[in-house]
Amino acid sequence: MAARSTFPAGLVLDAHKQQACGTPIVDLPLPRQVALALDQGSGYGAEPVVAVGAAVAMGTLVARTDYPFASALHSPLAGTVVAIETRAAAVEGGRSVCIVIESNGSDRIDDSIRPVADPDSLSPEQLTQRLRDAGIAGLGGAGFPTATKLASARDRGAQTLLLNGAECEPWICCDDALMRSAADDVVRGALILRRAAGAVRCVIAIEDDKPAAIAAMTGAIERQRDAALKVVVVPAVYPQGAERQLITTVTGVEVPADGLPADAGVICQNVATAAAVARWATRGEPILSRVVTVTGSGVAHPCNIRAPIGTALATLVAAAGGYRGTPLRLIAGGNMTGRALASDEAGLTKAMNCVLVATRDDIGSRLGAVELPCIRCGDCSNVCPAGLLPQQLYRAALADAHDALRQLGVRDCIDCGLCDYVCPSQIPLTDRFRDARRRLNAAEATAQKAADARERHELRTRRLQETATAEQQAFESVRNRARQPGDDAAGGKS
Ligand code: SF4
Ligand code: SF4
Repeated sequence: MAARSTFPAGLVLDAHKQQACGTPIVDLPLPRQVALALDQGSGYGAEPVVAVGAAVAMGTLVARTDYPFASALHSPLAGTVVAIETRAAAVEGGRSVCIVIESNGSDRIDDSIRPVADPDSLSPEQLTQRLRDAGIAGLGGAGFPTATKLASARDRGAQTLLLNGAECEPWICCDDALMRSAADDVVRGALILRRAAGAVRCVIAIEDDKPAAIAAMTGAIERQRDAALKVVVVPAVYPQGAERQLITTVTGVEVPADGLPADAGVICQNVATAAAVARWATRGEPILSRVVTVTGSGVAHPCNIRAPIGTALATLVAAAGGYRGTPLRLIAGGNMTGRALASDEAGLTKAMNCVLVATRDDIGSRLGAVELPCIRCGDCSNVCPAGLLPQQLYRAALADAHDALRQLGVRDCIDCGLCDYVCPSQIPLTDRFRDARRRLNAAEATAQKAADARERHELRTRRLQETATAEQQAFESVRNRARQPGDDAAGGKS
């Protein structure tokens, strides 16, 4: 079945995927050391439960969390915790506290790791908790804990699990490789996720430029003989894989600006997350590794690699044949939404779907480009998939005009980078919007704090007044009792 894109605009970009997608997924041998960032890409970190010197096996829990936006971490190696320290990491700000584990060369598995005998015997709530314990998080680039999304979908009665196999960003093809090589795992994981979400159907969306993945997934679905599972082919246009845009394409429903996908009856999960859920079910394995695309003109042999979480990016590049030519930029993610890194010592995270080693050819004319004034050409509005007016947002961002930013929908911007891409004046619009959003959030948080403090102060003043009034009334009542006629007489005697 094919669906038409119904979100506004978007752009067909040079895919650059053939470089890495021509060969089978490479299994990286266990590295000597891994550095597990406590923040795995969601912006929130777990708490270490091991100390330096602790012996760990593969799958041992090393960091836990009760916070809904962070995920638990497990050791991908058997060995020893040799440090817990701040290091270069592929996260906001470029550094994170990391648990550093050195391998002892063995592949001993933690005693707690056992296959899940019958996931269908677990209730949706039990399944969700088990997935939370296993640290399952969105592998499509966000790193958001899967259990939190599942619970929210159940609470809102979402009926459709939308499995995202669109993978629209140039260069990245790890999901494509996974769907082609492990389609049955993806479907098995999808069935577990569907059950945990309380959904009744599952739609797997794949872009039309991935015919082999479409064929593999269609075959796996046919083997399941489940009428509530289907593949939907969507047009290859960027950013088709963005959650809200994909939901609109597949269902025709627009997710409200201030709402969640579940408000449109949908829970969205990535195909790689589904495959990780299948590994958890069949092996009892928490997320210890992921498939990542290592590509760009600055890499000798672009490919997809399954590597332990925490593996240094330098090791991944070495496994792809090493650096080539004159790499100018190391990017975690793709060229449109990825994050430039200062060091290849950062470790692979659950959220990292691509390591892009870009040369001048890959980055093009924008490298070192001088920002020019906006010429009001309107190109940015013509491509914006969220239907925004980036040139007006830009003016509001420059003026830090909070009301205008809100009205123009700065929070609806999905940071897709398309407006930057087409802007003839080389204005880094997406960065400007990100900064403006940060400032707006900070200003609103400060205003909220002030309002809370005012409310607390007013409450306290009211209580003090009430207490004073009550005391006054009690005093009056005692005095009135003391002035009973008999007492007055006694008083008169004095
Ligand atoms: S694309 Fe650039 S120059 Fe054109 S209107 Fe938008 S911000 Fe202005
Ligand atoms: S980055 Fe934001 S404003 Fe720019 S095109 Fe994408 S969604 Fe629109």
